[in-house]
Amino acid sequence: MINNFVKPHVVAVPFPALGHTIPLLDFAISLASSGLAITCVTTAANALRLKLQMAHAFSSGLDIRLLVLPTPLVEGLPEGVESFDQVLPEHCGLIYDLVVKLEQPFNHWLEAQVEGMNHPVCIMHDVLLGWTMEVPQKHNITRVVFNTYGAFALTLLRSAWLSASHNALEKEGDSILLSLDLPTPLRLHKHEIDTMLFDPLMLEVIGRLQSLNQGGGMLINTYEQLEPEYLQHLRNLTGKKVWSIGPVLPSTCFGGAAKDSNRGKMVDISEVKLFQWLDSQSSCSVVYISFGSQIFLTEEQSKALASGLEASGQPFIWAIKVSPKFEPRTSDTADLLDRTYLPEGFQERTRNRGLVIWGWAPQLLILSHPSVGAFVSHCGWNSMLESVALGVPLITWPIYADQHFNSKLAIKLGIGIQICQHRDGIPDKERVKDGVTLVLSKEEGKEMKRGAEKLKKMAREAVEFGGSSNVNLQDFAREMYQLHMTKTAAVRGESSKLTYCWINASEAPL
Ligand code: UDP
Repeated sequence: MINNFVKPHVVAVPFPALGHTIPLLDFAISLASSGLAITCVTTAANALRLKLQMAHAFSSGLDIRLLVLPTPLVEGLPEGVESFDQVLPEHCGLIYDLVVKLEQPFNHWLEAQVEGMNHPVCIMHDVLLGWTMEVPQKHNITRVVFNTYGAFALTLLRSAWLSASHNALEKEGDSILLSLDLPTPLRLHKHEIDTMLFDPLMLEVIGRLQSLNQGGGMLINTYEQLEPEYLQHLRNLTGKKVWSIGPVLPSTCFGGAAKDSNRGKMVDISEVKLFQWLDSQSSCSVVYISFGSQIFLTEEQSKALASGLEASGQPFIWAIKVSPKFEPRTSDTADLLDRTYLPEGFQERTRNRGLVIWGWAPQLLILSHPSVGAFVSHCGWNSMLESVALGVPLITWPIYADQHFNSKLAIKLGIGIQICQHRDGIPDKERVKDGVTLVLSKEEGKEMKRGAEKLKKMAREAVEFGGSSNVNLQDFAREMYQLHMTKTAAVRGESSKLTYCWINASEAPL
């Protein structure tokens, strides 16, 4: 049956980890704004979170909907737990099992779409999604990878893996020189790649890069001006389209202060309290601390970090991820968390200059506030990109995976310094204090701020009409329209060589 939809139908399949769903969903919303019909595939518990992020898109009448697949039973995974951030690190494998089990109901749904009127033209799936794509291939549905890692990290990851598998890692004590398939050789500490080479999820990413020539190309949440050399390198390596379409952020982010607080999850602080506090601080004086959606610091790590923060004397906002062990929270939980993760009397001593958020913070609201002058981050790619897009220099503590590479990129770009590393690292009090002081109060920090402001300007230009990311978004949308027209024409028996001409997606026929 032919697709009677006048719009091309794209199916977005995110991986259930907040660092993956958040950007894919924001991009899906941009595509819907460009005139495409979008179905976002998810499970029941994740759907509630996605709806929060989609509230604005729904109310503005965009053609975007959620497909809720039945949640498969996974032994050991409690009901309602369907995302990486809800489990302890040692149980992340269970979420991966859940994802694997979703393939069958997804294929079942897809077959029904092909029979019916909603024939999708493209499956846009997360880079970590290890499903075979036989069903889309069978029905000639294009597959495009959505990448939540940067081009620099992807290139290094691929080089490290290739070098290791060809026994070509050039080791010298604890240091390794990576040079295979890189535009410029890079020296790393062995710990910076060791864990990655054996991480099944990272292997999935590399596999995706290796098999890219079978797919329809790759979308990367980055922008040309941030990593031009590495984007070009990936294009040369794959011979496929590599669309840089970032930074993928809610449109309000670039039109002044960000407004979307519940991005990913409900936040654990009231906006009124947050803004009262931020507004009372002076410009660029506050350091924001967050380790993303997945990392739990140990008691020792968080106490050591707290000591350095206190010694710096600077105002801070610290979003501390709460272990599922402390859920559901009771009236005593805050006290218990305090005693467990912070030095004795810390909250009392820093009462006038510190704000601790136990749980989820509205990160974009915080980073876009003029009082915030630095971000202590694990350098998850989203956090790094958000910091860059909002002009905030980074103080890094990469923990695992691509975070080591992202931290290196921040330093290379002149907008970051590193104060600690690795999952087992214990931050040194003096190093934390000096790092925070340097970025917030020293001339070197002002230079980093100027660099971050330049990148912010470039990020904004990239997503504005005619900017590189906007042009790539339109190019992707146009490709979807062409696939749609070709498919429709083929079913009608018309020539598949239709010339379909329009300037940008907003002018496409609706
Ligand atoms: N985030 C947030 N509030 C928090 C912690 C994280 O909104 O308290 C968001 C952050 O803005 C980013 C994402 O969650 O968009 C985390 O992604 P990232 O790649 O930085 O780290 P990951 O969680 O994947 O390690």
